Amino acid sequence: MINASHLSRKYGEATVLHDVSFTCEEGQILGIIGHNGAGKTTLLKILSGLIKPDSGSLTIGGVDVLSDPMQVKCQLGYLPEESRLYETMTVPDYLRFFGEIYGLDRETVDSRAGILLAQLSLNPDGKRIGNLSKGMKRKVAIARTLIHDPAILVYDEPGSGLDPMTSRFIIEYLKDLRNRGKTIILSAHNLNQVEEICDLVMILKQGDVVIRGTMPELREQFGSIRYEVWFHLLGESPLTLPVGTEKSGNLWMSTVRSVP
Ligand code: ADP
Repeated sequence: MINASHLSRKYGEATVLHDVSFTCEEGQILGIIGHNGAGKTTLLKILSGLIKPDSGSLTIGGVDVLSDPMQVKCQLGYLPEESRLYETMTVPDYLRFFGEIYGLDRETVDSRAGILLAQLSLNPDGKRIGNLSKGMKRKVAIARTLIHDPAILVYDEPGSGLDPMTSRFIIEYLKDLRNRGKTIILSAHNLNQVEEICDLVMILKQGDVVIRGTMPELREQFGSIRYEVWFHLLGESPLTLPVGTEKSGNLWMSTVRSVP
């Protein structure tokens, strides 16, 4: 479904994404993990057709994203880390506005909006978006990504900055979406936030892929020490040194099997 090959991107002279390749099948969740500045947002924007890579290729559902970004945008819902919502609109008006952009008729939008608000336990009571809580705003932003019923969802830190209950709600909702066949690519600061829902994981460090694999592959590889290894790769001190690791540059990588 998604085939990314050797994607690289610079801003000015700085390479912020370097030779990133992966595939993701329909109905899978790919988690992109990394600290601030690792290149997660840049990669998600490339996947969404919002910016172009300097080199590499990318196809989504057989469509070449780099030559036909508009076609991909129609089958994809992108959630930026900080969504700019139209604060003076009510939620139904906001969803209608985006439904019209996607060429949906009023009846379809209203019916989909009703279903999405129910699924998201969102009852805005006619309030303007500016008066909603942060968690409700995130749910509105998520509803907006789904109004045109896209096959692929690209979510930048969907649970960040939310209280634990709302964060948990969103994790469960992402599971539901995957069970309904959506393909999801999401970013997070660390694996703990998303481990339970990811089928595939890719860890970025300063624009490079340092670990990539399916969850079973990574579990088999790391077993109980995986958190320590991952923390180390991400530049944090592990409580215990992982058995069998050795330093390569400033990465601890020797237990990492490269996954094709
Ligand atoms: P992440 O989402 O992992 O925090 P980003 O993709 O946002 O990482 O950023 C990767 C690097 O690219 C950072 O060093 C950031 O400062 C830089 N960067 C991102 N956007 C721009 C931009 N529009 N212009 C210049 N540098 C940018």
